[in-house]
Amino acid sequence: MSTLITNIGELVTNAGPGGGFAAMDDAALVIDDGRVAWTGPAASAPAADDRVDAAGRAVLPGFVDSHAHLVFAGERAAEFAARMAGVPYRAGGIASTVTATRAATDAQLEANLRRLAAEMLGQGTTTFECKSGYGLTVADEARSVALAARVTPEVTFLGAHVVPPEFGGATDRYVDLVRGPMLRACAPHARWVDVFCEDGAFGADEARAVLAAGIAAGLMPRIHANQLGPGPGVQVAAEVGAASADHCTFLSDADVDALASSGTVATLLPGVEFSTRQPYPDARRLLRAGVTVAIATDCNPGSCFTSSMPFCVALAVREMGMTTRQAVWSATAGGARALRRDDIGHLGAGARADLVMLAAPSHAYLAYRPGVPQVAAVWRAGRLVLGGRSAR
Ligand SMILES: [Zn+2]
Repeated sequence: MSTLITNIGELVTNAGPGGGFAAMDDAALVIDDGRVAWTGPAASAPAADDRVDAAGRAVLPGFVDSHAHLVFAGERAAEFAARMAGVPYRAGGIASTVTATRAATDAQLEANLRRLAAEMLGQGTTTFECKSGYGLTVADEARSVALAARVTPEVTFLGAHVVPPEFGGATDRYVDLVRGPMLRACAPHARWVDVFCEDGAFGADEARAVLAAGIAAGLMPRIHANQLGPGPGVQVAAEVGAASADHCTFLSDADVDALASSGTVATLLPGVEFSTRQPYPDARRLLRAGVTVAIATDCNPGSCFTSSMPFCVALAVREMGMTTRQAVWSATAGGARALRRDDIGHLGAGARADLVMLAAPSHAYLAYRPGVPQVAAVWRAGRLVLGGRSAR
C-alpha cells in the first residue's frame, strides 16, 4: 500500500549535502511500506494506491525529542511559581518528585507516561527519548526503564540523577549501587546510560565511573552537562565518546573545541532556560565552531514542563539566535544524531516515513506563530496517526 502526498507547499527533507537542511517548494512525497520511497516536484510525482492533497501546506520530518524525563508522578507548579517569584533553581528539587514517584503504582506511572507521549505526538514528535531517574532504588529504577520501554525504544538509565536523601550525602556508596545492582536490573530495558554531572549531583570521577559501567553493560553514554554553571561534564562526554552532551549552557572555549573535535552532539534545551529564567546557551558560537546542535524539550516536572518541540524551536530562534532552518534541522536531524539514528530526522529515500504536516505553508511558521497549534497531521512509519480525514 503506497501513499502519495502531493501539493506540498514546502517539503523539508534534510537531505542536503552531508544531511544538511534542504527543502523544496511545490513538492510531493511517496510513502511505501512505512518508508519514504520518493520525493520530488509535485508535477512529476509517480502514481500511488492512495493520494493526500496537502493543499499547499508544509511537510517536515517528525520531531525527534532526544531528551525527556517522562516517568514520574506528581507535579511542581508551586516550585515553578516560587522560582518566578525569585527563589533560585537547584538540583535538589528533584527529591520531591522522587518521593511521589516511589509512592505511585505502575499503572499511575504508565498512565502519566502515555498521556505525555500522546501530548508529544499531538505536537509532531514522532520519536522521543525517555529517562528513568525519579526512582533511585533498584526496584524503582528497574520499573521506570521497563515502563519507558513500553512507549519508546530510546530508553535511558539515569540512576545517577541525584543522590537520594536516604544516602545522607554518601555519594560513593550510591554510585556503587548505581553501577552495580541498579545497572544490572536496568540495562536489559535500556539503550543509553546518562549521568547528571553538576554541582549538587555528581562530579567528573563519579560520572566517569557510572558511564564506564554502563558502557561495559552494553549501553551507550550521554550526559547532563554544564547546565547550572561551568563544570567538567562536557569534557567527560568527549572523553567517553558520548553521543550527546545535554544543556551546554555554560561552556569554555576548551569545551566548545572538545565538542567539535569529538563529534559529541550538543543538545540544547531552551525550555529549561525559559522555565528557570536562566541565560540561554549561545547556539551560534557552537554552530560557528562546527558542533552538531540538537534541540530537545527536557520535558520534566521540575525545570521544564513543556513537551512541545514547536515551542522549543521558537525559543531557539528568538532567544538563541538560530535561523528557522537551523532550529528545525536541530529539532529533527540534530535529535536523530543525538540518538545515533540515521533512519529518522530526514525524509530522504529510505527514511522511516515519520512526517508532520503543518497547518501552515512553511517551516518558518513554527517560530513566526509561537504558541499556536500548527500540527495538521502526523504519520509514523507511514501510518497516519493524527489528523485523520482533515489532512485529506
Ligand atoms: Zn534532563
